[in-house]
Amino acid sequence: GAFRVVIVGRPNVGKSTLYNRLATRNRAIVTPIAGTTRDRKESTVSLGGMTFDFADTGGLEDGADEPWKGPPGTPHPGMPQVVLKKTEEAIEDSDIVLFMVDARQGVTEADRHYARWVRKRQGRHRGVYIVANKTEGQLTEQMSQTLEECGRLGFGEPLAISSSHGDGMADFATALVPHY
Ligand code: GDP
Ligand code: MG
Repeated sequence: GAFRVVIVGRPNVGKSTLYNRLATRNRAIVTPIAGTTRDRKESTVSLGGMTFDFADTGGLEDGADEPWKGPPGTPHPGMPQVVLKKTEEAIEDSDIVLFMVDARQGVTEADRHYARWVRKRQGRHRGVYIVANKTEGQLTEQMSQTLEECGRLGFGEPLAISSSHGDGMADFATALVPHY
């Protein structure tokens, strides 16, 4: 089947901005999938000579913007299980997971919580990339600190991008090529 990429992460890190950038630039139609996964937005994307299915998720969003201080691996109390389930399904259907954080905000407790949550669902053949978004402009102390923290989440070195400005798209594409 098609090569499938899904993007997950906390609210407001810029997932949908990246999704819309890639989807609209490539004249793809955003097609909601019927039924239980209707919150997953999907589009065909052409990038760096590859064509793949790209999915945006809202599953780590609802009620999930409070810092998480509970035991590792336990669900966030504010997150409806049904919504979380949709993101889980999207991950299960994917070849590559993009875990996005906000480089201007830093890696938060909630990020670490969801990183563990994603790692459990990674499986043997599913790659995970950590994507540090909002890195346009001058590299700030906060950004470089976030990039360091990203490296410690256990998904390898972060890809620094700017969804709104388009920075880092070539490196992003290059990272996906070996999995394609
Ligand atoms: P989502 O909740 O993860 O889907 O995040 P959105 O895509 O809705 O973006 C949340 C906010 O971050 C919006 O105000 C965006 O304009 C902003 N944003 C997204 N990407 C970037 C970026 O690369 N740089 C900056 N500075 N802001 C961004
Ligand atoms: Mg969104």
